[in-house]
Amino acid sequence: MHLARFARERFAHLPTALEPLPRLGAALGGLKLWVKRDDCTGLAGGGNKTRKLEFLLGEALAQGADTLVTQGAVQSNHVRQTAAAAARYGLACEVILEERTGSKAIDYTASGNVLLDRLMGAAIRNVPGGTDMNAELAKSAEAVRARGGKPYVIPGGGSNAVGALGYVDCAIELVAQANARGLVIDRIVTATGSAGTQAGLVAGLAVIGADIPVLGIGVRAPKEAQEANVHKLAVETAALLGHPERVTREMTVANCDYVGAGYGLIDDEVIEALKLAARTDALILDPVYTGKGMKGLIALARQGFFGDETVVFLHTGGAQGLFGYQGEMQGALA
Ligand SMILES: *Cc1c(COP(=O)(O)O)cnc(C)c1O
Repeated sequence: MHLARFARERFAHLPTALEPLPRLGAALGGLKLWVKRDDCTGLAGGGNKTRKLEFLLGEALAQGADTLVTQGAVQSNHVRQTAAAAARYGLACEVILEERTGSKAIDYTASGNVLLDRLMGAAIRNVPGGTDMNAELAKSAEAVRARGGKPYVIPGGGSNAVGALGYVDCAIELVAQANARGLVIDRIVTATGSAGTQAGLVAGLAVIGADIPVLGIGVRAPKEAQEANVHKLAVETAALLGHPERVTREMTVANCDYVGAGYGLIDDEVIEALKLAARTDALILDPVYTGKGMKGLIALARQGFFGDETVVFLHTGGAQGLFGYQGEMQGALA
């Protein structure tokens, strides 16, 4: 496997730090817990979409695109990072925001990520929850073409095989960091949504033969659908690298017991996870993804699921989205 063969733009702050979380680990009964700081990838606040966008921008520029087109929920971190990449490369950016959570709160609809999208000049079109977002992407791309532009369409979450190469890169980087300091990683835990992050990690670890299991904590879909999405994309990603046969179905594991009421909807356990991470190791998580991932990690740790393992939690970013949830969190911050 040789990632240098793929077109790539370099703007992420890499490598991201790999740090211990001693106080959070102690609060979870002595769990040996580390964090991979992909919240610090540097692109207008950073997050996991930045690694994907390095490869997606590589392809977009190679195709001569002048407009990035993408979609997400109103408080999408992916959309914010795409708007940032577009600004940085002098490209136009057209985004479609799905009112997926149904929230009409002013902080949700106007602060956090949306405020940053607008600040960076993205053209925003809002659609109701349940809209066929792929059809909307096609419509936006057609409108760009009709006025003589060249669109590059990025799927939700940047989750196709090209985007997932960013997490193949992360897998290589993490294993190199662990090797350098003699840290044996028994498991990686990450929030999983549009699947590109987990799929890239699984494909990367499989292709380099690292044998480190990845546990995805689902934020939206039920387990069966989530695992099927991750597996399909992991195989496609490994195929881009020339080794699809190295990814097996058993490598894809998602636990979707912690979604709660639905995508982007928070509950007491999410708020508890946000507070615990913030008040132990000053780790700022987000309400939609890493807060749910940590909710799952905390519950599993309390059940003794991890035993004596050394666990790396992948912090995929998203803290900007916190400001979209200020009202909902207000009463719970004591
Ligand atoms: C998008 C996102 C995820 C999920 O990553 P996928 O590749 O979509 O599965 C996790 N955390 C944050 C903060 C995100 O923005």
